[in-house]
Order: sequence, then structure tokens, then C-alpha cells
Amino acid sequence: MEESEKAENDTSAGEEFISLSDFTATGSDQLTFGRGDRLLVRAKPCEDWWWAELRGDVGYVPSSHLLQCRLSSATGDAQGPGDAQGPCEQEEEEEEAAVEDPWQDEEYFGSYASLKLHLEMLSDQRRTEAYRQVVLNNRDFLKDKVVLDLGCGTGIISLFCAQLSQPAKVYAVEASPMAEYTRRLVRRNGFEDVVTVLQGRAEDVELPQKVDVLLSEWMGNCLLFEFMVEAVLKVRRRWLAEGGVMWPSSAALLLVPCQAHGFYAENMSFWKNPYGLDFTPLQPLAQQEIFSKPKFSHVVALEDCLSAPSEVLSLNMYTLDVQDLEEMTGQFSFCVDKLGEFHGFSAWFTVGFESRQTAGGGAVELDTGPYSQPTHWKQTLFMLDSPVSVHEGDRISGSIVLHRNHVWRRHMSITLSWTVHSGTQDADACQASAFNSPTGNVGTKTFPMWR
Ligand code: SAH
Repeated sequence: MEESEKAENDTSAGEEFISLSDFTATGSDQLTFGRGDRLLVRAKPCEDWWWAELRGDVGYVPSSHLLQCRLSSATGDAQGPGDAQGPCEQEEEEEEAAVEDPWQDEEYFGSYASLKLHLEMLSDQRRTEAYRQVVLNNRDFLKDKVVLDLGCGTGIISLFCAQLSQPAKVYAVEASPMAEYTRRLVRRNGFEDVVTVLQGRAEDVELPQKVDVLLSEWMGNCLLFEFMVEAVLKVRRRWLAEGGVMWPSSAALLLVPCQAHGFYAENMSFWKNPYGLDFTPLQPLAQQEIFSKPKFSHVVALEDCLSAPSEVLSLNMYTLDVQDLEEMTGQFSFCVDKLGEFHGFSAWFTVGFESRQTAGGGAVELDTGPYSQPTHWKQTLFMLDSPVSVHEGDRISGSIVLHRNHVWRRHMSITLSWTVHSGTQDADACQASAFNSPTGNVGTKTFPMWR
């Protein structure tokens, strides 16, 4: 008997999963489901495709879209009568309590306990120099100030403060065990009187006083991924003195429609005729496996940008609220300025550091986009299922929604919706006209942002 048939006949077996994003079946043996649906996975015949049940229907589902509920919920482990329902059947608020660690702190802070990520960040000179420049440009302002460096890692930003200015005190807060080494680095460089390293989650830390400056390098892919920013906002509310400074002071997410010929050829065109054979039946699978997720660490070449980029989110770090992070929506309307293939969208962020002193180098901006030298974040690529040919003067309008996962708090999904309006072969006309009627491709696609 086929593995799937065996599973189909065995109604007792199964593990419960919750779906992170929508999925539309591309074959009759697949299941269509929506974000938040609870599926019973009956068999895992391969890593990427599982056999599952939803509302009485069975079919294959892509494992990348699913997240397991607490193990005991569906595997028949002993449960008390009150526990008869697994966490996946409970209300969302209860789900958060039911999963063991919705922040996955052990894994997250564990990854910052070893050198790999710190080496990558410290070797990223554009990133690290931007923070150094902020301290340098504000060295007079920082004199006698109390500074909090949230998520100090190896302590580099705190050390810049101590080395280049004369703060009264720097509290360097780090949750990962790296903090122990950070203390040594502070001592080794002779700054132990100024910099105090505190190990713990910044949200839980108790300080002897409020701070004048809240400094942090909290940005993730597409700006918000991993949601370290939540800690920054909570600490701002609790510990930043009236009139205190936030660095970064502002942040923005940018988007551009782009070509990705190389990536498309490697993963899709490849199946057309390998070794003189037609492997195109594998293309829908390639679409599901590769193009359903964002591609991190993508470097979009300027010649592949089909239009000028557009700012789709703009955050003020003084007024942004934790609640705002649940769902963020941006709009775009791009004027295509060259003939090309619209393969997808590239996203990146910028952060701004306002200047607090008149004499000095002024404000600092860290731009992680394709118009600047790459940083370790590079850009994030979101592929359409199929490319759309576009011409100069066309317009691509639509929206982006960043939807934070209700259960797993470091994760989100990103939904891109777009309409391609055929234009007049003239970029100026695109700028001016309203393009009320879509004449071309319309699409929407949701991407899980998962580590
Ligand atoms: N500031 C350092 C490290 C930045 S990476 C640098 O610029 O090189 C982010 C760091 O913040 C990691 O070391 C991580 O462990 C820490 N971190 C993330 N969230 C935190 C929180 N809520 N409380 C304390 N530390 C946190």
C-alpha cells in the first residue's frame, strides 16, 4: 500500500499543525488552506510535502507553511479531562500560553551565545561604522549622559560611547551568555567604571535610574523580523527619561519591483530541458518549494530594479507602539522605467539617527538598499509565481501587509498584492496618469517569514 493510503486509512494517527500562511493547491492531490487553519498531519512521506487532513478532506500540504502545536495535543499522550482539547483548538490568547516558548528565547539567545553572528555583525563595517558615527557626531551631547545599550552583544556600541565621548554611565544589557565575555571586553579595554554589563532580558532588567539615551541595533530582515523592536519599545516606555533620545530615531521599509533572472533560471527554467529531457512537471513543485518563501541575503543589482524604490512603511521610534506591530500596511505605486521581466519585489530598510548637537556631523542614516554598499542584511527577495513582462510607462500598484504571528512572536507573514497597469511607454505619463483600469496582471501572495 502507498504510504499516503496507509495514512488515509489510519484515522487515529496524526499530529496537529497550525498553518502560518495561505496555500492554494496546484494539483488535485493537494489541500488548499488558509492562515490559521488547523491541520491533522497523518504522514510525512518526505521533508517538504506531508499528507494531512482538513475539514474531512485529505491531501498533500507543504510543510514549510505549518507549525506544530504542542506535542501532547494530538499524539494521544495522557491528558487530564480538562485538557481534552489541544492548544490548537483553543482561542488565540490561550494558544500563546499553551506553546512552550512563543518567543523561542532559548534558540534565539542561544544563537547569540556563540561568535558566528557577532563576527558577521562586527565585520559589517557599514552597520558598525554608522553607530560609531552617531556617537562621534554627538560626542558633546553625550557628555555626562546616562545611556542604555539594549542588546549590547559584544558591547561594541557601549564601548564606542566610552571610547569617544564621556557619558556618565552606560548600561549594556544583553540576554545571551555572551554578556560574560562582554564584561571581560569592557575590563580589558579599561572602561569598567563607565560601562556596566547587565545580563538579562532588557524588558525585565531593573536600572537604578532612567536613561537619557536608548541605543540599540535591533533591526532584522525586512526591518521587523524577530521583533527585537518590541523590547526596545517596552524599555522606552519604562526607562527613557522625558525628552530622552532614541537611536535609531526613525526606520523605514522600502520596496522595489525587480528582475531576478539568475534565481529564476536556477530554480525554474532549469527544469525545461535538463539533459535533453522535459522535466517541466517539476515546475509547480519548484514554485511551491522555492518561491513560496522569501529569499534572504539577496543582492538586487541596480539594473534589475524596474523602477525607483518606494517607502512602504515609515516608523517614528518615539511614538511607535507595541500594538502597532501586530499588523502594518503600506501602499505602493511604481512607475516602471525600463523594459523587463517583473520577477518579484526586493525589500530592505533604512534607519535614521537624529543629531542632538548643532556642531557635529549631523544626522546619520544607515541604508541597507541596493543604492549603497551591501550590509550583512543585504535585501530580501519575494518572487511572484510567474514573471510578468513589463514596459517603460507601466505602473505596478498595490499593498504590503506585515502580519505578526499571533503565536510565535518573533515571526510574521508578508502579503504582497499587486496590479500591473499597462502604460503608454512613457515614464512621465506614468507619473501623471491615474491608471484606473487594470489592464494586466493582478496577484496576491503571502510569504511566511520564518527562521
Ligand atoms: N549591539 C550589538 C549586538 C546586536 S545583535 C552589536 O551592534 O554588535 C542584537 C543583540 O541583542 C543580540 O546579542 C541579542 O542576544 C540581544 N537581544 C535581543 N533581544 C534582547 C532583549 N530583549 N534583551 C536583551 N538582549 C537582547
